[in-house]
Amino acid sequence: MPVVSTVRGPVDAAELGQTLMHEHVFVTSTEHLDNYGKGAWWDEEARVADAITKLNALAAKGVRTIADPTVWGLGRYIPRIQRIAAEVPDLNIIVATGIYSFEELPHQYEHRGPGLLLDMPDPMIDDFVRDLTEGIADTGVKAAFLKCVVDRQGLTPGVERICRAVAQAHVRTGAPITVHTNSPARTGIIALDLFAKEGVDLTKVVVGHAGDSNDLDYLRQLADTGATLGMDRFGLDLYNPTPERVATIAALCEGGYADRMVLSHDAACFMDYFPNEWDMVGVIAPNWRYDHIHDDVLPALLEAGVTDAQIQQMLLFNPRRYFS
Ligand SMILES: [Zn+2]
Repeated sequence: MPVVSTVRGPVDAAELGQTLMHEHVFVTSTEHLDNYGKGAWWDEEARVADAITKLNALAAKGVRTIADPTVWGLGRYIPRIQRIAAEVPDLNIIVATGIYSFEELPHQYEHRGPGLLLDMPDPMIDDFVRDLTEGIADTGVKAAFLKCVVDRQGLTPGVERICRAVAQAHVRTGAPITVHTNSPARTGIIALDLFAKEGVDLTKVVVGHAGDSNDLDYLRQLADTGATLGMDRFGLDLYNPTPERVATIAALCEGGYADRMVLSHDAACFMDYFPNEWDMVGVIAPNWRYDHIHDDVLPALLEAGVTDAQIQQMLLFNPRRYFS
């Protein structure tokens, strides 16, 4: 059986169990946190304890693994995740490499690369590959998937270079990809076209946030390439309410697409987008929490005619295939 890197080390793909394919532990900015958070809204010990409580509660629902696509641009900091993973024994946390940017390349790569001021092979590819094969910084933790973005701005020069570097890191390592897309702008098509040209195995791609769309033609067009649809923002009712998300999944299951969908919330224990109002976020978006799928969505899917076997397919077998 193939082995998957997790924060606590390698796990047989067969042991991943029920997997939520897009959940963050924390979304922060290191500079924001270091300069404005410490001594103000960030309490390291309280936040770590809160995450341990929330993730143990998720494991108690039967979830055995989360895939956390928190990369550069979303505040990836593995030592904090290691502390938490050590206290959440029944949950595997899989981490990612890549860059989360809607427009620009980080300046650290701007002048280094083929044909640039420092003419060299793209160092971004080597950085991603090192995260996947040797480990992230000095943590010993390996990433197991790649993440990039194609949002409404489309393939800006920065986004295009990041996506091509992610594609090349996939080609070198076989690691799967999750791409954040904007469903109203149908950018999943742009991302998959670019990946196909770069030689990516599209069966190893999750089109993140596809579940924000109820346009069955768009979703089938994506899934017919072999890619997997990320039905991954359950609880973000402002983008698409749960009943509509459920009806779309039921229609796709009916059409034979249960093997092309994965489920998740895109939730976090804490996001510094709302540092002083984080508790209010739970009041405004009460379903945006790690247990919404098990408490509310799975019963609604069954009610809508989705079978237990199809739910198993989306929660267990499709994630296993992606990471195998
Ligand atoms: Zn996300």
